[in-house]
Amino acid sequence: ATPMAIAVASGFGARHGILVKNGEVLETLSGIDHVVLDKTGTLTEGSMSVTSIEVADGALDADGLLARVAAIEVQSEHSIADAMVAAARARNLGPDRHGVSEFNNHPGMGVSARLEGRRWVAGTLSLLQREGVVPDPGLLERARVLEAEVVTCVHVAVDGRHVGLVGVSDRLRPDALELVAGLRAEGIGMTLLTGDRRGVAEAVAQQLGGMEVLAEVLPQDKDRVVGELRGRGLRVAMVGDGINDAPALIRADVGIALGSGTDVSIESASIVLMSNELRKVLMAVRLSRRTLRTIR
Ligand code: ADP
Ligand code: MG
Repeated sequence: ATPMAIAVASGFGARHGILVKNGEVLETLSGIDHVVLDKTGTLTEGSMSVTSIEVADGALDADGLLARVAAIEVQSEHSIADAMVAAARARNLGPDRHGVSEFNNHPGMGVSARLEGRRWVAGTLSLLQREGVVPDPGLLERARVLEAEVVTCVHVAVDGRHVGLVGVSDRLRPDALELVAGLRAEGIGMTLLTGDRRGVAEAVAQQLGGMEVLAEVLPQDKDRVVGELRGRGLRVAMVGDGINDAPALIRADVGIALGSGTDVSIESASIVLMSNELRKVLMAVRLSRRTLRTIR
């Protein structure tokens, strides 16, 4: 394509809220054969809400559990933490952060702290297990059922005992299906990449008509996954929104950030979508292919 054609295409993209950092990016995008999709905040809206609370027999009640966990999660910036804090507020359960000490954030896993003289851990099963907690069989079974319904389970332990779980869920973006179907029609393969549990990730992938799923990937490993896909000879675009995604956006042949994403992810991307419409990813791919097809 001539520099003129690329300039025209870039202008067209910009008018549709697709900001391309330079002309070479469109050329690289036209040759992409694989797209990695972050789940939380990218395929889904990323505004979670608490949809269920389960407690183990003989443990404290649901409100008591939510009040304590929210008091701890107030210090986390994760969308899951925001959901728990909002749910506690809605039920007049604080959150009251007084009395919380030794707060610790475990990225991609959860949080821990001391409260009322006890040690609290809230997060993934792996985090609880790392802390020596033996999972409660009843709660494990509930979690399995909830995960198949696309509910993310935050497991809670007090002084080493698994006492309950808080289920949080999120909605798919309205155009997620259109994006996935469109990319598939362009002959592009896809991988769903998430720190969330396999059960939840598989359920999302299935709702979208199926794709490769890489779940339970820690934030610091996301870019390694992109590197491995490129190592297989694939030309990879990565679509993401979070701080977690920034290294992967850089590692990909083309990084695409959602406009609502964190500043770090926007700086790390070579294409930024001003709106959060996922179908703009498809529009960008088609635009690049139409513009560059002539020279290949
Ligand atoms: P994603 O890759 O889907 O954006 P993250 O890597 O941020 O997800 O988190 C992975 C998982 O770690 C979450 O699904 C959740 O189970 C757990 N987690 C992370 N942060 C928190 C938190 N503040 N409280 C509870 N659980 C958390
Ligand atoms: Mg995300």
